Amino acid sequence: MLSRVVRNKAAIRAFQINIMRFKTTIALSSTTSSYPTTHVKDQPYDTPSFVNNEFIKSESSEWFDIHDPATNNVVSRVPQSTPQELEEAIASAHNAFPSWRDTSVIKRQGIAFKFVQLLKENMDRIASVIVLEQGKTFVDAQGDVTRGLQVAEAACNITNDLKGETLEVSTDMETKMIREPLGVVGSICPFNFPAMVPLWSLPLILVTGNTAVIKPSERVPGAAMIICELAAKAGVPPGVLNVVHGKHDTVNKLIEDPRIKALTFVGGDKAGKYIYEKGTSLGKRVQANLGAKNHLVVLPDANKQQFVNAINGAAFGAAGQRCMAISVLVTVGKTREWIDDIVKDAKQLVTGSGFDPKSDLGPLINPSSLTKAESIIEDSIKAGAKIVLDGRGYRPKDSQFANGNFLAPTILTGVKPGMRAYDEEIFAPVLSVINVDTIDEAIEIINTNKYGNGTSLFTNNGGSAQYFTKRIDVGQVGINVPIPVPLPMFSFTGSRGSFLGDLNFYGKAGITFLTKPKTITSLWKSNLVDEEILKPSTSMPVQQ
Ligand code: NAD
Repeated sequence: MLSRVVRNKAAIRAFQINIMRFKTTIALSSTTSSYPTTHVKDQPYDTPSFVNNEFIKSESSEWFDIHDPATNNVVSRVPQSTPQELEEAIASAHNAFPSWRDTSVIKRQGIAFKFVQLLKENMDRIASVIVLEQGKTFVDAQGDVTRGLQVAEAACNITNDLKGETLEVSTDMETKMIREPLGVVGSICPFNFPAMVPLWSLPLILVTGNTAVIKPSERVPGAAMIICELAAKAGVPPGVLNVVHGKHDTVNKLIEDPRIKALTFVGGDKAGKYIYEKGTSLGKRVQANLGAKNHLVVLPDANKQQFVNAINGAAFGAAGQRCMAISVLVTVGKTREWIDDIVKDAKQLVTGSGFDPKSDLGPLINPSSLTKAESIIEDSIKAGAKIVLDGRGYRPKDSQFANGNFLAPTILTGVKPGMRAYDEEIFAPVLSVINVDTIDEAIEIINTNKYGNGTSLFTNNGGSAQYFTKRIDVGQVGINVPIPVPLPMFSFTGSRGSFLGDLNFYGKAGITFLTKPKTITSLWKSNLVDEEILKPSTSMPVQQ
């Protein structure tokens, strides 16, 4: 009865907010069967927010241009959501929470199954928007969607994953432990995985009975908007999922609003540390995946061609803009002589438009990322590194890409800690090579680095692999696997300077992060004796 009154009040409040101002709803610029396949875009599209399952045109006076990284043409715009729009989105998620929490898990699971199906049907549409806004190749963009889709698929197992525990702890007395949702979860996303990162948390937020306010990167909001459309089509009720846009003002509102109970963040160190520290100081749960510097170590007994293919793919794929990209190669002993083979194969990689199926890597996200990478290369050369493959100044032949942010694969040898190429996260197709004589030296270098996201060892010796995995202090370790991101039946396990929080994204840890435990202890006596009722016990209960 009480919950019905609360729910009615929430509905009235939502209605009041809706009639407070007239809102223009708009449609997305793409559909399941119609989406961009080239770089041409006539009319920049104004990205809407998503509240109560409607795409709403922002009334903001502040807009950010979104540039196609291959041409630097403006393809869309994104608003700094106004304070009122932020309030409406959070209120919508807050008001939707009680009835979504009370929706049966089997119903939420059914919606998750449908969501998975729709993601599959719209894979190419989402990938094409990623190519246009983010720049990566179409095949890689499909991988971006697929890795998020896999989290959504794993979320369909919620009817098993959310099972509680029960025990008859004493005669006729039973304790059951269940996990309940937290409320509204805010999600702040980076530019480099426009579909995967929102999907790292969204499916689990939904199936665990929480509601969401998502802030995609202001540089690549398109994929997240399509994901919202699909969630609504799958049956996610109005208010359960909302999207707002913008920069610091939006993030600060998500951190400070008491209705938001937890924050998931993926992005760079500065923003992540700020969000983690401020969020936790306000009593929120925060999980924050930060920057990375991932080393690949190669031993002389490794399969050379397998290694060469792996290092080139992992260092230069996605133009090095992956948090698990290999940016440092540690050659042990005579493997330093394999550099020529790496260079030879890296030269074959085609840098160009993400829509061109011949391209192996696309441009960097924006001109300042390109300038930063070029200045790191230059400073490192001045500090003693040798450039054995120079991708600076590269331009694809087609003149429409003359203004794109292109950097072709670049390899620096003789790199040492203390040089910018080693000390900073470059986030570009730049591979730094360090030479050492022993596996112990390689382990020492990796464990001394401030980051702990991923690392990889290439070897044909199981003993060396055991030795390495037991001594290395990094979250995700690959043996003959260059980018060892676990599938979502496990968690994304970055650690040390690459992660702030206690519970990682997705997998069991993800569900634990998004839920809180409750124990319920009940006594239903099967053999009630009248006298016992008449004798109250004042001592600490000790059941037997
Ligand atoms: P970013 O930190 O610039 O932005 C991430 C998000 O935080 C964006 O939504 C942005 O609007 C917001 N933001 C940025 N600066 C802020 C500030 N000062 N205060 C409040 N909010 C702020 O990151 P990016 O450039 O979009 O993404 C690249 C970074 O993300 C790289 O460092 C990469 O390693 C990291 N990343 C890490 C993982 C991981 O799992 N460890 C995965 C993907 C990306």
